Amino acid sequence: MINFFHSGGCHDSCCLKVQHLSVSIGGDKILKDVNLHVHCGQMVALIGPNGAGKSTLLRALLGERDYDGNIIFSVPGSRKARARIGYVPQTPNFDPGDPLSAADLFACCLSRRPAFLGQSKADRELITECLERVHGEDLIDKRVGTLSGGELQRVLLALALEPMPNILILDEPLSGVDIEGQTELMDMLDEIRKTYDLSILMTTHDFSMLPRYADRVVLIDHEVKIQGEPKEVLASDEFARAFHIREV
Ligand code: ADP
Ligand code: MG
Repeated sequence: MINFFHSGGCHDSCCLKVQHLSVSIGGDKILKDVNLHVHCGQMVALIGPNGAGKSTLLRALLGERDYDGNIIFSVPGSRKARARIGYVPQTPNFDPGDPLSAADLFACCLSRRPAFLGQSKADRELITECLERVHGEDLIDKRVGTLSGGELQRVLLALALEPMPNILILDEPLSGVDIEGQTELMDMLDEIRKTYDLSILMTTHDFSMLPRYADRVVLIDHEVKIQGEPKEVLASDEFARAFHIREV
């Protein structure tokens, strides 16, 4: 059962607690007894080989997967407020010919109006404000299919930040983004979490970013193999085993 309310008992600084979480799909145990905490304001990276269950874990957090165990979201300082979750999915594929601008995408998602109706003046002001949060206001009239990987991630991020969540969940935001774009995106996530005081949980395969940006790293391969500070996890035997790294 997902509990979105204040959990108490976590020194008022715990934003997400996962306890003994297991997920089975079609008789296969995909996740087994996963325990982790994401504290308020922290950036936590979830890593693991392909098929390890990273996206499945995120889907369970979003309420899109059945599971056993507990998922507890808490909002600091409030016993009644619901925690808001922002989600950036793995990058969808848009075709350059798709007649859909960033503004159209926002209008569909925020006001649930069909894109062909265009946007009202108030909608457009809100969309501009949202894009400004990710320094992407110049993207408003660009077709989403023509955006670079980094630009598309910024648009999806801006969408996930309206309304401003308590925790932001991103599934492989760095894949499909070039090295320069990756640093820009990570700097932006860092800025956003500090400015808006939110927690970030993201999956990634880009381990070089971890020591600089992540507070904690959780390595899963159907179960938690190790979790801790980035340098500790990256230097661990569990990490070497999970990614088949041999000493030379
Ligand atoms: P990761 O994101 O770590 O690459 P996933 O969570 O996507 O891994 O997948 C973990 C395992 O669960 C894989 O073996 C995958 O085939 C399986 N799986 C995920 N979703 C489904 C589904 N809807 N139906 C059947 N198997 C699934
Ligand atoms: Mg995945």
